[in-house]
Amino acid sequence: MDGFPMTGLIDAQAYIDGAFVGSPTVDVLDPATGEVVGRVPDLGAAEARSAVEAAQRAFKPWAAKLPKERAAILRRWFDLIIANKDELALVMTREQGKPLAEAKGEIDYAASFVEFYAEEAKRVSGDTLPTHRTDARILVLRQPVGVVAAITPWNFPAAMITRKCAPALAVGCTFVVKPAMETPLTALALARLAHEAGIPKGVLNVVTGEDAPAIGEVFTSHPAVRVVSFTGSTEVGKILMRQAASGVKRVALELGGNAPFIVFDDADLDAAVEGAMVSKYRNMGQTCVCANRIYVQSSVYDAFVDKLTAAVGKLKVGRGTEEGVTQGPLIAPDAIEKVERHIADATAKGAKVVLGGKRHALGGTFFEPTVLSGVTQDMAVAREETFGPMAPIFRFETEDEAVGYANDTEFGLAAYFYARDVGRIFRVGEALEYGMVGINSGLISTELAPFGGVKESGHGREGSQRGVDEFVDIKYLLVAGL
Ligand code: ADP
Repeated sequence: MDGFPMTGLIDAQAYIDGAFVGSPTVDVLDPATGEVVGRVPDLGAAEARSAVEAAQRAFKPWAAKLPKERAAILRRWFDLIIANKDELALVMTREQGKPLAEAKGEIDYAASFVEFYAEEAKRVSGDTLPTHRTDARILVLRQPVGVVAAITPWNFPAAMITRKCAPALAVGCTFVVKPAMETPLTALALARLAHEAGIPKGVLNVVTGEDAPAIGEVFTSHPAVRVVSFTGSTEVGKILMRQAASGVKRVALELGGNAPFIVFDDADLDAAVEGAMVSKYRNMGQTCVCANRIYVQSSVYDAFVDKLTAAVGKLKVGRGTEEGVTQGPLIAPDAIEKVERHIADATAKGAKVVLGGKRHALGGTFFEPTVLSGVTQDMAVAREETFGPMAPIFRFETEDEAVGYANDTEFGLAAYFYARDVGRIFRVGEALEYGMVGINSGLISTELAPFGGVKESGHGREGSQRGVDEFVDIKYLLVAGL
């Protein structure tokens, strides 16, 4: 990749108005070792403002391009991301910790949004509606909103950016993103490739900086920004929504989850175990759609606990770059502390550690993949997202009870259940108060489907044809005097 070192110490610059700017002063650490893997600039409100203004200047010419031209540029970006997949994945593993195979999977996933919206750019169509006057026609246009400002988290350093950026650029918006400072190197590597792909200056901007509130303040208050798109904690989402209210900006929020994973007595138990493994332990349990509460019907409870424990026992903990490793380190010390707090709370209230339960012998932020049985609704894990490699297994008796437990949370992002009875599949699928429900699958993410939550998990959808809705305004033209 042009000018971007993928190995050794990566000194990367931010990307504003088509230029690589700022001196790399903030260390980016490898969570597996604590070593410095790279450095990025510490930019603040002034640079955030200049990025927004660059995006504002770039907006009209970008929006005026033919959809086919925007599509071709996005397609080139997709091709470059795929061509550099191995290198991008390595950068990601070094700064984020996830196993290399998962990092490659994320690059494919991230690229899939760029490919999908390159295609979709040509299909953002409006309507001609039946008229109420013989001398007039009603047209509905879908026009790009303008500048989109995004703030993204560390758990998916590439995909959380492209899932927002690709649809925004496809419809003609311009884009400014502040990536998480745990994982800015992947974001800046993507920006390099966007630059190489010929994305015009100002259309995509990446601002790195430690003072997230100051940058967030500019994003939510600058008059040029029309949409603030955020993925992260519910707490920060609420702050941004409040701030955006003063300028009546649209906000798209992908916030926390507390995903239930229900195993009914008619389920294929082996399939349910396999689903629980990918849903719970992917990214070391650090995704907002990870199973957080596993509810198992009484008659299959013991069998499920045994099978899941056997599968978890086969996970291999280590550095993400080592062959065969399936569990890397957690992102930071406070992540470990939360897992420990949930385990201590649950065991104090009667839960049993079936496997794991403590820090891993490797030290640092490595944690033993853990299974708890006898977990109940009064434990902290029933309420809060653990965001770590710990599977708490609850017992239930009836379908109504399971649905009641599952919905007893302020969150509503993803839910999963395993069942074969077709009546139950429809009843439970419709009763779960979630934006996404995986039925007989522990993995729901794809660029082809609308990702997003209800309740305090946020609003707006990313992916699929719906993913452009946040970035277009609907305009009605009444053409009269015909
Ligand atoms: P996480 O627990 O995943 O770190 P956060 O919500 O704290 O979740 O962080 C997600 C993103 O939000 C990161 O890019 C972070 O820097 C940013 N962020 C944190 N606090 C604020 C804030 N007050 N205003 C704007 N952005 C913020």
